[in-house]
Amino acid sequence: MEINLISDTITKPTQEMLQYMFNAHVGDDVYRQDPTVIELETRVAEFFGMEAGLFFPSGTMANQTAIKLHTQPGEQLIADKYAHVYNYEGGGVSFNSGVSCCLLDGNRGMITASQVAGAINDPEFYHSPLTSLVCVENTTNKGGGACYELDDLREIKKVCDANNLKFHLDGARIWNALVAKRQNPKDFGAIFDTISVCLSKGLGAPIGSILLGSKADIHRALRIRKILGGGMRQVGYLAAAGLYALANNIERLAEDHRRAKEIAAILSTKPWVSHIEPVETNILIFSLAEGYSDQLLIEKLKQKNILISSMGHNKLRVVTHLDYKEVMHTYVVETLQKF
Ligand SMILES: *Cc1c(COP(=O)(O)O)cnc(C)c1O
Repeated sequence: MEINLISDTITKPTQEMLQYMFNAHVGDDVYRQDPTVIELETRVAEFFGMEAGLFFPSGTMANQTAIKLHTQPGEQLIADKYAHVYNYEGGGVSFNSGVSCCLLDGNRGMITASQVAGAINDPEFYHSPLTSLVCVENTTNKGGGACYELDDLREIKKVCDANNLKFHLDGARIWNALVAKRQNPKDFGAIFDTISVCLSKGLGAPIGSILLGSKADIHRALRIRKILGGGMRQVGYLAAAGLYALANNIERLAEDHRRAKEIAAILSTKPWVSHIEPVETNILIFSLAEGYSDQLLIEKLKQKNILISSMGHNKLRVVTHLDYKEVMHTYVVETLQKF
């Protein structure tokens, strides 16, 4: 038995999910005739209290579409230095939209309204790129699963409104935040112009993200998705997995969070661990004390069939997920206690 704590993207569909996918009613979604896709888009939009949704093969394509929607070539977006849209989308911000990034030095991937206000270029000063978009991430990926307070997001929204900026949420792990902080999804829908959410991380679907926004924005997003090659045909089979995941896999995220916290508690007793980032959700980031090697720890854990990953600079990452079961957790806890 191999225990993979490298990412929450490694989960595989269960028999029940596969059966649900198998039974889906499908049609040609490029003609918008797939009832299961429409049902998923509608349900997620309603969940967040937004007007419309659009199914994407990946979170990257959903984010890139949002950035394309809200910007013109030459303009600039504001994001945290850890942002997925900047670090892990292949340079798509510049490739797809011709946009540059003004990166802020946030706290665990989270930025503040005053930081945003200070980063906006004067629109009359035509020497600088025109600031047109703010992107935030919740939970933060590279920031270690940290979650925003709604009021802090509302403050950023005020700055956006006062400066004519669009506001996009990369909510790949928004489900984790909703469960951890017991927040209402409709509160997020009320703040953002667009939100991308991922079905293939904590929720355990094999593929899929949804972009949410106004009817007008989602209508324009349809063309952008087509241009990016994301128009798919009988894709209701995949959307069905998302519907199954929404119905069955949200509340249980609390277990992933508990297990991540329990692993952190054990690590906190170890002399070879120098620092642990606060664990709010399913991501745990810790640093090793001087003289200890991340590669050696990874190797030693691997010998015990436990896989974790390095983030460089002697920082390591553990991610809990749907396929990390209680028996595995018991074994990991016992193994770490002996280290
Ligand atoms: C995973 C992730 C995405 C999208 O990733 P895909 O692999 O393209 O689905 C976007 N933003 C964040 C913060 C993520 O963690």
